[in-house]
Amino acid sequence: MDIAIIGAGPIGGYAGYLLAKAGHSVTLYENHPGVGCPIQCTGILTADYDTFGFPLDSYLVNVIETVEVYTPTGKLTVKDKNYIVDRTSFDRFFVEKAVQEGAKLFVNNSFTGKNGQGIIIRDTVNKEDKVVTPEIIIGTDGPLSPTAKAFNFYHPQRENFYGIQATVEGNFEPHTIKTYFGNDVCPGLFAWIVPESSTRARAGLATTKNSKHYFDQFMREHHFVAKEIQAGAIPIYHPQQQLQSGNCYLAGDAATYVKATTLGGLVPGLQQAQILADCIVKGKVYEKEIWSVRRKMWLHLQLHKIFRKCNDKDWGRLIHYIERSGVTKVLEEHTRDNPFPIVLKALLKEPRFLLFLKYLW
Ligand SMILES: Cc1cc2nc3c(=O)[nH]c(=O)nc-3n(C[C@H](O)[C@H](O)[C@H](O)COP(=O)(O)OP(=O)(O)OC[C@H]3O[C@@H](n4cnc5c(N)ncnc54)[C@H](O)[C@@H]3O)c2cc1C
Repeated sequence: MDIAIIGAGPIGGYAGYLLAKAGHSVTLYENHPGVGCPIQCTGILTADYDTFGFPLDSYLVNVIETVEVYTPTGKLTVKDKNYIVDRTSFDRFFVEKAVQEGAKLFVNNSFTGKNGQGIIIRDTVNKEDKVVTPEIIIGTDGPLSPTAKAFNFYHPQRENFYGIQATVEGNFEPHTIKTYFGNDVCPGLFAWIVPESSTRARAGLATTKNSKHYFDQFMREHHFVAKEIQAGAIPIYHPQQQLQSGNCYLAGDAATYVKATTLGGLVPGLQQAQILADCIVKGKVYEKEIWSVRRKMWLHLQLHKIFRKCNDKDWGRLIHYIERSGVTKVLEEHTRDNPFPIVLKALLKEPRFLLFLKYLW
């Protein structure tokens, strides 16, 4: 089959690799001059990434052993393995795999809309449009997904966070991520300091409004001077976002497959790409087969709704319950990519977590 993939990020690259490997004719269109630039990501992967079995050497920057959670009234320390990657090399790893399997890659090629049965691709250097007529179109074109919009199924109630981060220098515990919660620090999410090494880190945060204000405040409080700044939109999972319309499919940020609690989209997006490729190759129904990832996205969304309404006192209570009831151990046994066992075991150990359900309504 002739398949066009709009957006050569990691999710488009991985889907392209799997489909080309299965014998399909794949073309990747990327509107930037190169793959993996500009970077708009902290590059944290949970240990669930190991399940894909990919070699890490070409893009691994650091390995994290501990996550510290700071709230206005307390601190929690959790042993938690995470990988920190260089996003440019990470994206190139997947796209090169696709090209090695025979996929064609066109950079400086932007999807601009539909034309009858075809799609319009603009060569942004020569300012020339061409119409191509693939049998299948896959939109892996990020949070604002021009593909979903052109095919008329970008859900109107989708919401984005706006993330800002800087590369900073200082003295850091090299294998510890620090996260900062609280309505004065970062309403609705948390701020982070993610070390690349003992002298360099990625510091940032994401909110739905006024990200720049909170980011500037966070930088000032930590006496950080930005070496380089990156920013970008991150979608919140929307359960009603359709994943397929006719011969057009969505995956990754385009489909809002991002964990709403942490805004991590890499592992769920790669899982989604795997399921999508399998559905296309074997003729299965994507919307049905995606349930295993969808239910995790759903649970993250419910937890996010609760966290979003927590006040400073609630954060103190949460930390207290987690520490007193031994839930820290549960957090250490499972990755956040797999939230169901965490929530079930936490509720069995500490039923008072149920009190937070009031924030769902
Ligand atoms: C500040 C910040 C920090 C983050 N940190 C993390 C993290 O630590 N861990 C994590 O898992 N996730 C993180 N995320 C989210 C993560 O970056 C995304 O979930 C991930 O990039 C999704 O990959 P994707 O391939 O779906 O989309 P993208 O990586 O956005 O790739 C989409 C591609 O499509 C291209 N494109 C767009 N429009 C067109 C068009 N019209 N024509 C052709 N090409 C087009 C873009 O140029 C881009 O290359 C972070 C996001 C931000 C903004």
